[in-house]
Amino acid sequence: MRAAIRRPGGMAGRVDAKMAGTMPAYTLSALNVRTYPLGENDKILVALTRERGIVRLVARGARKPRNRWGGRLEPLVRATLEVSTGRGALDVITSALPYGPSATLMADFDRLMVGFRLAEAAVAIVAEGQPNAAAFDRLEAALDLLAEGARPEAVALWCELGLLDVGGYRPELEVCVACGAPVADSAAGPFAYSALGGGVRCGSCPGSARSVGVETLLLLGALRDAEIDTVRGLTRPLPGEGDAALLLADTLQACADVRLRANDMARRLSP
Ligand SMILES: [Zn+2]
Repeated sequence: MRAAIRRPGGMAGRVDAKMAGTMPAYTLSALNVRTYPLGENDKILVALTRERGIVRLVARGARKPRNRWGGRLEPLVRATLEVSTGRGALDVITSALPYGPSATLMADFDRLMVGFRLAEAAVAIVAEGQPNAAAFDRLEAALDLLAEGARPEAVALWCELGLLDVGGYRPELEVCVACGAPVADSAAGPFAYSALGGGVRCGSCPGSARSVGVETLLLLGALRDAEIDTVRGLTRPLPGEGDAALLLADTLQACADVRLRANDMARRLSP
């Protein structure tokens, strides 16, 4: 009977929660981004969740050898978590039931690295404790595409554009952010792209910014609102994709900096 109680899955969590004198308080669809050690035996898990945005949770015993969590709390694993509100500052995971094709994704190092990069991009975009189901869905879809064998470069651009969009940082690609003149439908170029300035600038509006060709702007514009099936069908290198990747990396970094400064400001203003 003891073996059955300790079996991984929902039952184990419920039994352990009762033994600990607590009951599951809520359930989360979670994508684990990274973990930190906590004390001698525990881990803190940073996860993107559908219901509460970025959360930090405690996994008791996760650092012990042959612990009951197995691989269920590793980065990029998706799981349904049952969580209890504990006495400490952080809530405690009482059970984790994995879902999705993360094992397939893990088998390929390059895809795994893209998956990590996209999960970190989501952390840069989504606020702690604030739900952003659209960001969660976009990241999940991207991981599914990576696991299916879609081209990682295309998946990454599509996912990052979507995350920026749903996070409220949709970069301007069609008109100059300084003067409003249309740029993307012009055959001229190159243009300047300013991550901090929120998008593209025309040739008449100076400013320190990355030079960007018209094919890169067109590619980003086309991928931003592309359906999943379109991304799945992109099997060859795309014109401008290298520059597009650099430009989005700049933009995500700018968003992360803005978020850090906003958090810092909030801390200083709070009593
Ligand atoms: Zn302009």
